[in-house]
Amino acid sequence: MTAPGLPSGGGCRTAPVIKERGQREVFCGLTGIVWLHRKMQDAFFLVVGSRTCAHLLQAAAGVMIFAEPRFGTAILEEGDLAGMADAHEELDREVAKLLSRRPDIRQLFLVGSCPSEVIKIDLSKAAERLSQRFAPRVRVLNYSGSGIETTFTEGEDACLASMVPVLPRTEARELLVVGALPDVVEDQMVGLLEAMGIGPIRLLPARRIDDETAVGPNTVFALAQPFLGETHAALLRRGARHLAAPFPFGEEGTTAWLAAIAREFGVDAETFERVTAAPRARARKAVAAAARTLSGKTVFFLPDSQLEIPLARFLARECGMTPVEVASPYIHDAIHGPDLDLLPAGPRIAEGQDVDLQLDRVRADRPDLTVCGLGLANPLEAEGLSTKWAIELVFTPVHFYEQAGDLAALFARPLRRKALLKLEAA
Ligand code: SF4
Repeated sequence: MTAPGLPSGGGCRTAPVIKERGQREVFCGLTGIVWLHRKMQDAFFLVVGSRTCAHLLQAAAGVMIFAEPRFGTAILEEGDLAGMADAHEELDREVAKLLSRRPDIRQLFLVGSCPSEVIKIDLSKAAERLSQRFAPRVRVLNYSGSGIETTFTEGEDACLASMVPVLPRTEARELLVVGALPDVVEDQMVGLLEAMGIGPIRLLPARRIDDETAVGPNTVFALAQPFLGETHAALLRRGARHLAAPFPFGEEGTTAWLAAIAREFGVDAETFERVTAAPRARARKAVAAAARTLSGKTVFFLPDSQLEIPLARFLARECGMTPVEVASPYIHDAIHGPDLDLLPAGPRIAEGQDVDLQLDRVRADRPDLTVCGLGLANPLEAEGLSTKWAIELVFTPVHFYEQAGDLAALFARPLRRKALLKLEAA
């Protein structure tokens, strides 16, 4: 007997999808640098952008700036924007200065922004030129974090997708786990897989460039984050095979994610049970505590992080909530299908955003909890609706068994606060 199959649910995979392409209210892809620079310890992210971009990064990562930060902004001045200066020469000068001062940098990402895109600086050419100049000590890559092209989690997707073509080739049968996770969560995940005898396990992004992450026709990969559409496509192009599974949020999602990998590697049911029984029990207990507040409540997801579908599945199935609308910036069947299968039928499923139309639906539904971006949360709170910031779900460790209780508690907090305020007002 092998590891268990997927649990069955009512299913939203074939539900009609509301497709909207209007004005949207989300952070840009530069935001991903805040967590990526902590994960990749020998990388530096050089945003080629304006003072606005520098301010965004400083505001988002302000608390994490220490003596030698691993990100910065090459500011495009008015002369660059008017095409009066050679931005490429200036960029080369900035990079040379940075790399001579910082011998610890082994990977440099040139990150495009709205201004660099508007004036059409070809950062892929710049990366190629600089890679040749600074190889083999430093590898220079580029991707776009521009708000014109990306929502805030797509920055990580674009970054990882830029790394896939330059990963070394391997013929070995290996598991590649894709998506940046906090180190402590990543260690828990690797521990569970290794305890089942699964390996070698490679990680993308790896903590350092010298770590043995490679890809080839015998690589099977599992996504740890649901916003990695481009990276998924890039890995398929390198011949790797995707293990589709629900995402590891909550006890059930984590078990299904691990089981998909365990089945692939022929782990027997007894081993799977021995490794997962105790953390599963802990996760169930921790979720149950927060679920007392969440059960019977309605939730509306606006599209921000692409975590919406797996989180709605978690809240519906493990916390007793009723999703009324689940919207995601993008829906990829190959990536989100297993979670849609498990999401009980009922909610509207939406892809993309037309913010005014969507806010009309929020007001008509008056859900108990609305998950949305920072810009929309305050006005909705002012209208008496409880909100949860989508970005908090990306910055907080929420994956796998040991974080399942914290994940449920994140949603329970605004509801508890509202109940307390009502009590005080009574
Ligand atoms: Fe603003 Fe665009 Fe810079 Fe992001 S990339 S901070 S949206 S100007």
